[in-house]
Amino acid sequence: MTDQNSAIKFYSGEQIPVELHKVRIVQKLFLKPIEERKAAMEEAGFNTFLLSTKDVFLDMLTDSGTNAMSDNQVSSMLQADDAYAGSQSFYRMERALRDVFGKHYVLPAHQGRAAENIVSQAFIKKGDVIPMNYHFTTTKEHMELNGGKVLEIFADDALEIKSSKLFKGNIDIEKLKAVFKEYGKERVAFVRMEASTNLIGGQPFSMQNMRDVKKVCDENETMMVLDASLIGENAYFIKQREEEFKNANIKDILLEMCSYADLVYFSSRKVSSTRGGGIVTNSKDLYMKMRDLLVLYEGFLTYGGMSVREIEAMAVGINETCDETVISQSPSFIAYAVNQLDAAGIPVITPPGALGCHVDAKGFLPHVPQAEYPAGALASALFIISGIRGMERGTISSVRDENGDDILADVELLRLAFPRRVFTLSQTMFVVDRVKWLYDNRELIGGLEWVEEPPLLRFFMGRLKAKTDWPEKLLAKFKKDFGESL
Ligand SMILES: *Cc1c(COP(=O)(O)O)cnc(C)c1O
Repeated sequence: MTDQNSAIKFYSGEQIPVELHKVRIVQKLFLKPIEERKAAMEEAGFNTFLLSTKDVFLDMLTDSGTNAMSDNQVSSMLQADDAYAGSQSFYRMERALRDVFGKHYVLPAHQGRAAENIVSQAFIKKGDVIPMNYHFTTTKEHMELNGGKVLEIFADDALEIKSSKLFKGNIDIEKLKAVFKEYGKERVAFVRMEASTNLIGGQPFSMQNMRDVKKVCDENETMMVLDASLIGENAYFIKQREEEFKNANIKDILLEMCSYADLVYFSSRKVSSTRGGGIVTNSKDLYMKMRDLLVLYEGFLTYGGMSVREIEAMAVGINETCDETVISQSPSFIAYAVNQLDAAGIPVITPPGALGCHVDAKGFLPHVPQAEYPAGALASALFIISGIRGMERGTISSVRDENGDDILADVELLRLAFPRRVFTLSQTMFVVDRVKWLYDNRELIGGLEWVEEPPLLRFFMGRLKAKTDWPEKLLAKFKKDFGESL
């Protein structure tokens, strides 16, 4: 362990991550009584996306657009150059992205999924397949809207919850070769690698895997696309877990990762702790295929739907992503929470990954059938008993097949996101404490059913309800154990 957060030893011998930043701007939080939390959850249709932050204590829904900005980022926003075209803010960001990603052409977009829209429209045609380590919700929708089919070719043991496998985000090379054999290279639009694979628990891939994937891509004259939304954390894990890189710096690791990709796209809501997104490449040919779409959907080439203030903060933020102290903060807090919960026998994804702590809802609630959405039920239950807002990443986040039946998700997860530098250690300890209580009372939690189900991306706006009176029972037990405590 060489990262700064865990390099500090405590006299007690305990391994405790230390915040290597100080708090200078704060936001007041409220923890409401459990009766109000339960009413808020019912009002929100048992969907944590529909909660209002006035009812939320610790917002662990996502790290998207919620990372804390640095003093340097905030101050950079003051020099923003407001212009429709040719803004100096854009040129500063372009220089920073060229430097960090090693790619010359920069296309700005208003967020990650907007970049996915452009990439999908430019490079996917009907009947194409897109092999990848794992899908992301918005990625898959954009690819399918353009007539493509997503093929997930992760290793057979990548979805095991409890694991000591360090790179569960790797692409299985034999399966990749088999895809080219079965479909022929003409039908493979591109190969997509997602850094710190979001939906399987923020699990990284190794540099060696990227090299191997690149080799197969080259043999088949097919391009590799890198989703770099969580690339900083993946680079940090490469340094931590891949012997060859133990003395490398994050910046060099990032550059090498990007060097294998023909095209890199990202959500700046994550990678640079701002808002926005973008696409970078060294190929003029690829750039020209996307340029006009960008102007059509996002805005002129020097702002792409972003405010110039965000563009300035992005230029600073992308450089800070290369700072190991910055990039190790979230993974070291996640590791703390995961290790505590794991030691208490609670099923969480191991090894600890990026983005958040992922609780295995199938293991937590074996008595709730998958058709009754255990991850959604667990997210609702945790909010009711703690005011902590997590996100369902299971069957509710999946889709229905052509017969209208649920496609049961590979894994049912409650994701508790740790946005960078937002939560303190005592807040992290509160999370661990309440999850432990919930685990001891897990038999009280029941399933959910739909009240209102939108056909597209239903997890965002859909409304559900409890199948039985389990929320009342949970509330009563909480009052019994905690009395008047919040
Ligand atoms: C968040 C995310 C996206 C989409 O980015 P938005 O800015 O939320 O639109 C795409 N890919 C990955 C891996 C992500 O984590």
